[in-house]
Amino acid sequence: MSIASKIAELKAALPSSVELVAVSKTYPPSAIMEAYEAGQRTFGENRPQELVAKYRELPGDIRWHLIGGLQTNKVKYVAPFVTMIHSGESAKLLEVIHKEALKNGRVIDVLLEIHIAREESKHGWQEDELLDYLAAGVYRELTGVRFRGVMGVATFTDDMECVRAEFTRLSALFARLRTEFFDDRFDTLSMGMTADYPVAIECGSTMVRIGSYIFGARG
Ligand SMILES: *Cc1c(COP(=O)(O)O)cnc(C)c1O
Repeated sequence: MSIASKIAELKAALPSSVELVAVSKTYPPSAIMEAYEAGQRTFGENRPQELVAKYRELPGDIRWHLIGGLQTNKVKYVAPFVTMIHSGESAKLLEVIHKEALKNGRVIDVLLEIHIAREESKHGWQEDELLDYLAAGVYRELTGVRFRGVMGVATFTDDMECVRAEFTRLSALFARLRTEFFDDRFDTLSMGMTADYPVAIECGSTMVRIGSYIFGARG
């Protein structure tokens, strides 16, 4: 099936409350253009340099999401144009995003990445650390950051009950944070990839990040 028909099929299958981020990391600009011609405008990349190169080359109405781990010294490259950063995973990083956003006269949409998987290698806040950080209140001074929700990557496993338990926990944390610390603008629950997006949607996802299903297996 072509990239265009994959996009069409996904758009038809996803509930209207769920936004599709087409994860184009490692795929060439020509593949992104195929998805673009099929109407897709939101793309996700995980490396700042690759994101910047594609941003420069491709149409200006693409909404670029950074979905992967971000080093603080790389924030300045994406701050001028990035639409959303999914990997807000430390106090230091949030502070740097805030500063770089203000330098560019912007407020950047950011998700708090939560560590929900069993693998230690995965990124993100531990729940108790995040609750302590938010309770301390410093985040309210970060006027360059618009806190939009949370993001999580489930354990890489065939055991969908494990994945479901992780997504259920993330969904509950999302609801708790919205009532305790934020408001209705905290509206984005980014969870679900090629292997697990149907389960993520059942657990309340509002944004899925799908790459290999659309573009084919990465090399
Ligand atoms: C690569 C990646 C995805 C997409 O993964 P697929 O399995 O190709 O759909 C989603 N989220 C993050 C954080 C990723 O790094």
